[in-house]
Amino acid sequence: MSNNTVDTVVIGAGVVGLAIARELAQRKKDVIVIEKETTFGSITSTRNSGVIHAGIYYDAGSMKAKLCAKGNRALYDYCNKKNVPHINVGKFVVATSEDEAKKLDSIYNKAEENEVVGISRVTKDYVNKKEPLVVCYEALEVKSTGIVDQQSLMRSYIGDFEDNGGMIAYNTEIKDIHIEGQKFKIISSDGTIIIANSLINAAGLEAHNITGLIDGFSKDLIPKIYYAKGNYFETNKKLGIKHLIYPLPTEASLGLHLGLDLSMQMRFGPDVEWVDQINYTVDPSRVNLFYNDIVKYLPAIKKEDLRPGYSGIRPKLKNKGEGKSDFMIQSSKEHGVKNLVNLFGMESPGLTSSLVIADYVSNLVE
Ligand SMILES: Cc1cc2nc3c(=O)[nH]c(=O)nc-3n(C[C@H](O)[C@H](O)[C@H](O)COP(=O)(O)OP(=O)(O)OC[C@H]3O[C@@H](n4cnc5c(N)ncnc54)[C@H](O)[C@@H]3O)c2cc1C
Repeated sequence: MSNNTVDTVVIGAGVVGLAIARELAQRKKDVIVIEKETTFGSITSTRNSGVIHAGIYYDAGSMKAKLCAKGNRALYDYCNKKNVPHINVGKFVVATSEDEAKKLDSIYNKAEENEVVGISRVTKDYVNKKEPLVVCYEALEVKSTGIVDQQSLMRSYIGDFEDNGGMIAYNTEIKDIHIEGQKFKIISSDGTIIIANSLINAAGLEAHNITGLIDGFSKDLIPKIYYAKGNYFETNKKLGIKHLIYPLPTEASLGLHLGLDLSMQMRFGPDVEWVDQINYTVDPSRVNLFYNDIVKYLPAIKKEDLRPGYSGIRPKLKNKGEGKSDFMIQSSKEHGVKNLVNLFGMESPGLTSSLVIADYVSNLVE
């Protein structure tokens, strides 16, 4: 059994945990990241759409609104500076009927409130000049949306972190946490004990379980987390689509959209499937749901072109039908424990916002 003392422990080597660790290490803190898996980002941070969101959908005053548009600009700057593969492809949010077109107004207004730049209402003809195969009644063009290679981004965060003396302990699962005076005593599965001045809980889908391990932490302050799985369907079909194509958002998701990887290959999703357990298998019978939604804006796709792909799980603070879920970043102001930050509900746009979340969280610890 070994015993180490550090300034800060970050639990979780996902994109958010790594961005925070990087920021703290750059602020000259001595930081260890503890990760239970054998590598970084293998849970939600690579099971997503890889979209650099513009920040158009979020309610004014929400954490997502505060962090996304700013995060978008910070991420482009970072990717350009560090040569992280990304493409500023832009996107269309398409209304496929006159009724749907009315809803574009509220998205446009929210985008303006959130200080999103490069957004405009465009006609069907405009969309068809750029994307001849996409069917719509009217659309919003969002120029600041892009795609990023999540693995490369995290590798770059790790490079910055390690250059500043940071260390990641893989295969290490947190089992117990005690608060002793002003310090945290963190015990992992192999019996290693780390004493830290600050503790950042960026455990994603498990963040609520981590707070449950903290001796004396009030159970009333641990939010209930609901899992909303997002399935993807893939295709080999090449239609030359150059933009991300989004239908109108629903309460729980941004809609079943056409995504692109960095080779410009299309994929579709994520949908929303409320689940009790973490299970990443994609049920092939969901193809009907996918096809029925996609065909409305992309009739060139056939059901037989689609095959089950991967899935990711969103940790949500609200259950089905309860409304929109926001990020919850809990610090001593909320729970009274100095230098403890819990990040709950870090679903989309967590990847986009990661650098700005890191700055925000680093300012919450001394
Ligand atoms: C379907 C889907 C699509 C998405 N699309 C986008 C998108 O296009 N753009 C965007 O901006 N965002 C998107 N997101 C959101 C984005 O993926 C997340 O916000 C981000 O990955 C969260 O990162 P994280 O570091 O908080 O969590 P995670 O990546 O889940 O990392 C948490 C880490 O903590 C570790 N851990 C857990 N428990 C313990 C323990 N006891 N001990 C040690 N380690 C532990 C886990 O192993 C894991 O590696 C999407 C999410 C989903 C689910």
